[in-house]
Amino acid sequence: MEECLFCKIANKEIPSDIIYENDKIVAFKDINPQAPVHILIATKKHIRSVMDLSSDSGEILSGIFSAVKEIAKHQSIDVSGFRVITNTGPDSGQEIDHLHFHLLGGRRLGKLVQIQ
Ligand code: 5GP
Ligand code: ZN
Repeated sequence: MEECLFCKIANKEIPSDIIYENDKIVAFKDINPQAPVHILIATKKHIRSVMDLSSDSGEILSGIFSAVKEIAKHQSIDVSGFRVITNTGPDSGQEIDHLHFHLLGGRRLGKLVQIQ
């Protein structure tokens, strides 16, 4: 996807603070962190959202959660705890239509969903 921001980050056409990568995924610091640790774990392949995953996507998902564990240890939040979120569609506020998981930690995160 030529115009996709996270494809460009994955292809290193746009600079980002990449902290982990393998052949399937890339993890980089969120530009607008909501917690002391706020890392985005994105697929290298352009997948728009959870709704575009299929029964063949098991390897991608297990790779994402392996990365979550590695990064949590590396960031020293494996014991204190963390949250993993993926936004999907308009009600979630998904901004970037390229599958990614937010890894948040380093402080007490409070309620899962804000009541507005
Ligand atoms: P979403 O709302 O799609 O789940 O999350 C998109 C996230 O991408 C937001 O938390 C936002 O701060 C982050 N973001 C947007 N543009 C950039 C960018 O150019 N670089 C990085 N590192 N993060 C970005
Ligand atoms: Zn993309």
